[in-house]
Amino acid sequence: MDHIENNEQFQGLKVNKGISAQPTVNPYLNSFKKFKRKTYTISEYVEGIRKGNITILGQAVTLIESSKQEHHAIAQEVIEKCLPYTGDSVRVGITGVPGAGKSTSIDAFGMHILKENNKLAVLAIDPSSELTKGSILGDKTRMERLSIEKNAFIRPSPSAGSLGGVARKTRETIILCEAAGFNRIIVETVGVGQSETAVHSMVDFFLLIQLAGTGDELQGIKRGIMEMADGIVINKADGNNVEKARLAKSHFQNALHLFPLPDSGWTPKVLTYSGYYETGITEVWNMIDEYIAFVKKNGYFEHRRNDQSRFWMYETINERLRNDFYNNPVVERELKICEQQVLNSQMSSFAAANKVLSIFRKHE
Ligand code: GDP
Repeated sequence: MDHIENNEQFQGLKVNKGISAQPTVNPYLNSFKKFKRKTYTISEYVEGIRKGNITILGQAVTLIESSKQEHHAIAQEVIEKCLPYTGDSVRVGITGVPGAGKSTSIDAFGMHILKENNKLAVLAIDPSSELTKGSILGDKTRMERLSIEKNAFIRPSPSAGSLGGVARKTRETIILCEAAGFNRIIVETVGVGQSETAVHSMVDFFLLIQLAGTGDELQGIKRGIMEMADGIVINKADGNNVEKARLAKSHFQNALHLFPLPDSGWTPKVLTYSGYYETGITEVWNMIDEYIAFVKKNGYFEHRRNDQSRFWMYETINERLRNDFYNNPVVERELKICEQQVLNSQMSSFAAANKVLSIFRKHE
């Protein structure tokens, strides 16, 4: 009888004919070493992105994420030139605790979105990588089906820097993705620190994924999250969980009634679905479409995007000022001295702050 591993089913484990001697473990290793990443001019980047070239898009995003000044400068020019081709998109933020089923759901939502002839980019904001040095989100393999779709672009969270810095990079990545023809953007986050607020500041619709608990699910929700949500969806409404999910839905609906109507004029909806068994997916996405149509009609869509642009302008100024200040060597030295004097009660906190700030102004 034939060896079981020669069966078609076990492709990958197939027994191959032996060869006499392997020249090297990886015959491509040496040629790989010689491989140097091609660099592009700004117009090559822009043109490549506009044509939807994923490799060039990916490299441009790497420039955005780079901490090198020269990369930053190129990235900014590319972004500027891409800006006129952006905006005609739907940006959705998705949050939920680890285990809520974000990746399973985004895989299912994504496949649904692609069926409607869209191009989808999935980005992430994961400040946990800064705190724990391990990323919870953004691993490509978590979205198995999407990750092999040519109309899907999945990019893990930028990892270096403050939440503000990470969020800015993701926002800039949205611009490039849209210029590359991605008309649906999902920004995923896990509820660490202020990450939801950051995501909320760059999307049109904010979706909160919840699980049905034992009736006390509302207590576990971080303050302020419910107010931010344009829709709440209860995942894992399958098997024995269906009834619990239905109950959770009515708890959330009741709780939402306690909040004033949001500025959008839209009453947030609560739905149940199963990301794993793919039931209720269409309904979730219909809700988002319905919301977008509603806010486009009443003008809130434009208003929210303008607000966000203004917000990001000031965020960028703040981030740059802070970086310039703390990275200034004279300031760095003076800060240490002044801090010691404050601790020794030789100077007040305010006087110390004033002193360092005036030194910064002189040495800018
Ligand atoms: P994430 O941490 O929020 O990204 O959650 P995952 O998508 O990794 O899902 C966490 C666990 O929940 C996995 O074991 C999934 O298989 C499971 N899961 C996700 N969605 C569903 C669902 O709709 N129903 C059920 N029963 N399990 C699910």
